[in-house]
Amino acid sequence: KLRIIPFTHHGISRSQINPCALKVTSGLQKAGYTAYIVGGATRDLLLGLKPKDYDVATNATPEEIRALFRRSRIIGRRFRLVHVMCGIEVVEVSTFRGHSPIDTSNHTSSNHIDQHGRLLRDNVFGNQEEDAVRRDFTINALFYDPVSEEIHDYLNGYQDIKARRLRIIGSPIQRYREDPVRMLRAVRLAAKLEMQIDAATAEPICNLAPLLQNVPPSRLFDEMLKLLLSGHALVCVMDLRARGLHHGLLPMLDVILEQPLGERFITLALKNTDERIRQEKTVSPGFLFAILLWHEVLAAWNTHQAAGEKPFPALYKAIDTILSIQHKKLAIPRRFDAVIQEIWAMQPHFLIRSGRKPFRLLTHPRFRASYDFMLLRCESNELDIKIGQWWKTFQQADINEREMMLISSE
Ligand code: ATP
Ligand code: MG
Repeated sequence: KLRIIPFTHHGISRSQINPCALKVTSGLQKAGYTAYIVGGATRDLLLGLKPKDYDVATNATPEEIRALFRRSRIIGRRFRLVHVMCGIEVVEVSTFRGHSPIDTSNHTSSNHIDQHGRLLRDNVFGNQEEDAVRRDFTINALFYDPVSEEIHDYLNGYQDIKARRLRIIGSPIQRYREDPVRMLRAVRLAAKLEMQIDAATAEPICNLAPLLQNVPPSRLFDEMLKLLLSGHALVCVMDLRARGLHHGLLPMLDVILEQPLGERFITLALKNTDERIRQEKTVSPGFLFAILLWHEVLAAWNTHQAAGEKPFPALYKAIDTILSIQHKKLAIPRRFDAVIQEIWAMQPHFLIRSGRKPFRLLTHPRFRASYDFMLLRCESNELDIKIGQWWKTFQQADINEREMMLISSE
């Protein structure tokens, strides 16, 4: 069953491997353990992409790993693994996992799964083959040994990579029940890797989509964030909609897709985010959420103003209202609040083009993000394009030109 693919076949040499991951795998092997680079890194190398991070799998236990590397620590409670640090880099090392023993006579009696079949614990150690089988997709279950430069393949993942086919391991329905997030991962990975989802892997998604409601909101939030920052957000979102994964299942997608007025804005914003990420520029999650929720803020702002509030207090109230609703609904962590609030609160300041205020705005630490945000508003025709143009020129102008630009009648 195990296929060993030699270097002459796959062509990935150890010189392509991140030095920290190389140090960790060879260190473990010298100590007598087996150790491989697994998951996304091996997959990305085979696809000619640059791995985002490196995961190592080994038969050493967390304590044994910990003992080998001075700068390492054990993390995680549900799923214990070890972080090994080299300089500023971190490599995640996990012990081979097996499948939790599922009591097939009565699923609900097992304390490893909930009533929908969702796997609650995943911390049983296993051998290398079991570790391959418990992973999500065949292309994510390849083991690369940088010392021998061989790839170990138990599930024909290598063929699937070459065929650009995303195939779930085992029975699709059972695997989605165990962890509904795999449905989101399928959509995200297919878009990111430009692969086709295999028919049997895609088929149950539409029916099983409601299982996502059973996933803890913080986990959904993390996965949605990965998706939105994948560089392929627009394709992913359209694909999720096509597969029926949006309505009421993923609050984030409801927010994105169910804004008749905001659709143009969101489409532009996701396109813009995708481009930035492909150019290796950063996109802060705060900026992203500020975009996704902007039209809700606008609506609440209008409501408060219609009720007689002055523009600025009305905006602050709208910001509070929307953020507190979305904390609950989307599980947006509070650490993003400051950025979101600042970007929104700065928007009306772009309308002021007289006096000293425009100069002060330029020096605000959050100017850049707020300015980019304002340009998106212009592009989507929500804001007069002249405002955006004025600020573009104002920034590039020298001191004298700036003084000349100020609009005296405002
Ligand atoms: P990315 O490029 O986004 O990091 P990745 O495949 O590396 O993609 P990770 O979340 O870093 O994704 O996971 C690392 C590996 O762990 C995966 O390649 C896969 O083998 C396994 N894995 C991750 N999530 C799951 C899951 N929900 N079920 C089973 N295996 C998973
Ligand atoms: Mg990864």
